[in-house]
Amino acid sequence: MVLNLHLSGKKHTSKTLKLQSEIKKGSNNPRYGIEVTEETKKRLSESKKGKACKEETKFKISETLKNLPTKQCPYCLNYYKPAAYGKSHGEKCKKKS
Ligand SMILES: [Zn+2]
Repeated sequence: MVLNLHLSGKKHTSKTLKLQSEIKKGSNNPRYGIEVTEETKKRLSESKKGKACKEETKFKISETLKNLPTKQCPYCLNYYKPAAYGKSHGEKCKKKS
């Protein structure tokens, strides 16, 4: 995050945050088009291993996942959460059968 001394103790309004978010989307993002190499992914993964999340964080993740809408796979006809669906269903499920 950029250090904003003029904002010390103040918070941006939700309107400003939304605008800042919109400005940095897609091709306007400084990371746009940059592929993350497998080596980088592995390095990031290794750096997080063995570190436990806070209970609060675990709870938030759990609640978020519970509220995700499920998606039906047109090939095996089962319902899955988006993470599971993307990993082995949809087009990938078609290739299996
Ligand atoms: Zn499937």
